Amino acid sequence: MNRQLLVEKTVKTPKKRLSTLIQEGKKFSLQMEKIAVEGYEQVIKVTDKNVGLTAIIAIHDTTLGPALGGIRIYPYAKFNDALEDVLRLSKGMTHKSAVAEVGYGGGKSVIIADPKTEKTPELLMAFGAAVEKLGGCYICAEDVGCTTEDVKTVRRSTKYVVGLPHAKSSGDPGPFTAWGTFRGIQATLKQLFGSKKMEKRAIAVQGLGNVGKHLIDHLYWAGADLILSDIDSVLLKKMAAKYGARTLPPDQILKAECDVLVPCALGGIFNDQTIPFLRCKGIAGSANNQLLKDSHAKALRDRNILYAPDFVINAGGLLNVAAELEEGGYYPAQPRAKVHRIYDTLMAIYEIATRNKESTHEAALALASYRLKYGIGKRVLPPTFHHNIEK
Ligand code: NAD
Repeated sequence: MNRQLLVEKTVKTPKKRLSTLIQEGKKFSLQMEKIAVEGYEQVIKVTDKNVGLTAIIAIHDTTLGPALGGIRIYPYAKFNDALEDVLRLSKGMTHKSAVAEVGYGGGKSVIIADPKTEKTPELLMAFGAAVEKLGGCYICAEDVGCTTEDVKTVRRSTKYVVGLPHAKSSGDPGPFTAWGTFRGIQATLKQLFGSKKMEKRAIAVQGLGNVGKHLIDHLYWAGADLILSDIDSVLLKKMAAKYGARTLPPDQILKAECDVLVPCALGGIFNDQTIPFLRCKGIAGSANNQLLKDSHAKALRDRNILYAPDFVINAGGLLNVAAELEEGGYYPAQPRAKVHRIYDTLMAIYEIATRNKESTHEAALALASYRLKYGIGKRVLPPTFHHNIEK
């Protein structure tokens, strides 16, 4: 595996013929510069002036296997905002992979662009060329702002991709993340009330996107009393009518009086400003990096709010994409069984946290660190890219 940073010499490419040249396999004008960050194996700034690409690839840790993580496309106001985000996200992926025992490491990438207006095939292919140069120590997938169709475009310049809309691929991870989150809500109810029954439990969901829309369907059929919120008022109205749910405006959902609050939108939402106003008994949602700082886990514990660590409860999508890289190929029944067991993993974390009188976040971090220290779940066979074998 090539972990060397490659700095590509700038190649002058005429702008108007760029996509043709890319299709012909000609070089990009990539610049890959290393950013030294303590505790991270590689952090690389990727630019290509011809296509307007500015991206960062962060490889946090590859102890257990190649780094696996999505591509986030977002119009960050400042480069440092993007850097901070990719560092937090890639570290979270290390912990998520270790706890889920998938045999991968932690990595993530961000492309600084508005996914609605600035996402072009050339930009995605130039990014793919940078991933290819890393020689397989980072494997990319979809994330916020990046669809499975976009990943298909990235695939045109790198094989180190998962989650393609392809017969041999795992496809959209959303439904798997949603089922894992549902199982995590059941574990949270069991820990709080001694029963995982959803009937008449007030469940407040923030964000009805790719994960949220599948999750609320499971919650509805399990009998939950739903409270919904989304910044997309048209979507919110439609979902509320479909499920007969109550709604709250986006600035009120975190204050909802409920049994379980389910964040499925943004990160950093539990902080000094929001925690004093929470009126839930538990938190169990799919959003990445829900705590602004690690110390906010203790603040939740002090308020007697049970928190399902995000990197444990939202591992369903990771388990699904990882299954695609198995030697024998992708069979959905295999990740289904693993995603179902997120319930058991969370119950074990709740028990350890109670026994050690620590926050659930600390207990989950300790579990991840233990597996990293002793190489538990380390990859033995290299991943197989089936989309590379059968077109
Ligand atoms: P998405 O972009 O499809 O959906 C997010 C939804 O949240 C959108 O409908 C958006 O309008 C809404 N939203 C944004 N800000 C909001 C606010 N302040 N209040 C209420 N609603 C708001 O994203 P997704 O794929 O559903 O992922 C949701 C979260 O779960 C993200 O944090 C993502 O990183 C995380 N996650 C997703 C997956 C997956 O498989 N898609 C896997 C692991 C983690």
